[in-house]
Amino acid sequence: MTLTRNLLAQGFALGLLSTSALAGQADVAFVNGRFWTVNPAQSEAAAVAVKNGVFVAVGTTAEITALADATTKVIDLHGQRVLPGLIDAHTHPLETLWMKSDWVDARYPETPSVAVALTNIATRVGTSAPGDWIFVACVSASENKFAEKRLPTRAELDEVAPGNPVILANGAHMAVVNSKALEALGITKGMTRLPKGGGVLTDADGNPTGVITDGFADIPSAPKPAEVIAYYGQGIAQFWNQYGFTSMLAITPHQVVPALQAVSQSVKQPNIRYTVSVWGAPDGKDLPDDLSAFDMPKDADPNYYRFAGIKAWVDGENDARTGYMYDPYEGHFDIDPAGGRGTLVTPQVEANAFVDLARRNNRLAMLHCSGDAATDICLTAYERDAAATPHASMRRIEHFGMFQLSDAQLQRAQALKKTGLYISVQPIWLTELVKADFENMGAERASTGYKFETMIKAGLEPAASTDMTGLYLGNIDPFKAMQALVTRQSDMGLFEPEEAVSVQDAIRMWTVWPAKSLGEAEHRGSIEVGKLADMTVLTQDILSVPGDKIAETQAAETIVGGRVVYTRP
Ligand SMILES: [Zn+2]
Ligand SMILES: [Zn+2]
Repeated sequence: MTLTRNLLAQGFALGLLSTSALAGQADVAFVNGRFWTVNPAQSEAAAVAVKNGVFVAVGTTAEITALADATTKVIDLHGQRVLPGLIDAHTHPLETLWMKSDWVDARYPETPSVAVALTNIATRVGTSAPGDWIFVACVSASENKFAEKRLPTRAELDEVAPGNPVILANGAHMAVVNSKALEALGITKGMTRLPKGGGVLTDADGNPTGVITDGFADIPSAPKPAEVIAYYGQGIAQFWNQYGFTSMLAITPHQVVPALQAVSQSVKQPNIRYTVSVWGAPDGKDLPDDLSAFDMPKDADPNYYRFAGIKAWVDGENDARTGYMYDPYEGHFDIDPAGGRGTLVTPQVEANAFVDLARRNNRLAMLHCSGDAATDICLTAYERDAAATPHASMRRIEHFGMFQLSDAQLQRAQALKKTGLYISVQPIWLTELVKADFENMGAERASTGYKFETMIKAGLEPAASTDMTGLYLGNIDPFKAMQALVTRQSDMGLFEPEEAVSVQDAIRMWTVWPAKSLGEAEHRGSIEVGKLADMTVLTQDILSVPGDKIAETQAAETIVGGRVVYTRP
């Protein structure tokens, strides 16, 4: 006890060591590192001690070494920079399995044109049995990127795949299908909605054009339960750990929840922590009244598996010309939904009902909004909720201000923040979608997007995420996203440099703010005594390299609960 008192006294005197540990109580000690803790009370440290997966001391190497005994595993970090474990605040991990196993890759830039995409599809048809579904992945806004400046048509897909249903996904909110797929989905003349809420575009005579919007819930592409269980148990963590992620918000179709509940029993401590948000129909209407059906089993470890909330889509996305706007899109694209203002998936009354469902169940509500009109629907639903339950926990807007943001919307969000509003953003889109936004919306509207510094100054604490669906290229890499945040280099060149954020804030966007946005900041998001011992060791010091070198940073080691779950080969 004397030793402990001495250590505590010494720590107090130096103002460095923070600890809840007694000497000899550390399972693992990480020493000789350069920790940037994201804890304002002690932002730099050289070493940490971990007991039962939790930080028990943060201080100097000498202080932490003094806490170790013969049973403590001591890991030397050789001066490497360490951050709190990165958190992906909004992602779709299961879809990356679909992408890997089944999909024909027609993503730009490897597939530069409609012509090459059709050749790739024809090749797959050659190795498929008649009637097999063929899934094709494009990136969002492919119509802006392909050499022909359009998507393949239904007729072109029919030509290369006369005997197979084909769905070509233009990102996650729009697809082109061929005649066999229309037949398989039961889409006939005059139909404008799919059974689960997706939109069907028709020509002047009411014939389906082959373009469907937000109809993915209707597509029979679900992998088999055994594949899902294996992927949640191991594959997802392997994929995300390489990029330094230790936690994710997994946005999950409700049909998959039983598989995830099973995984929580077979893999008690996976290599990534799952917080789960569940969706059903895009407008949220098919979710049960009692959401406890989605809870993880009682004996699942809540630090690894937790059902947190529900998600619905107010609209599509502006880059696929389906985000719901007040004014029509620019240009003359024949894929636009009627009226040219995008797709309204969840009107006001239904958005209100969705938020009420979350509130009755004391869960997080998540509403996806892209266009300005959709964002207003969401803000109105949350203002109504805040008026009824001023102390209610949490509401989240997904993709807030990515494509469009007005001053009035910023102020409404700021006011809501006082009663628990959080926002998720996808900074990597700066490098992928800005050009398409200008083509789709014109300069005036497009220049209101991606105002991350404005959001931070307004106190909105934006939570960054990959929104990884498998349909994009490279968007899982958080360091590329951080470089874009800091440099404002977009796919159109330098874009709104006054909206550049500091590298420190870029790190907060991937650590403490995602933790807050999920109600988990008490246990995650910073390197602090009492929090889960999640860390990302970097290959270079992200805090001192020039902004245009940030993307070269990689995860050298990823550590979950004091366990090294990934080491860069
Ligand atoms: Zn979304
Ligand atoms: Zn998403």
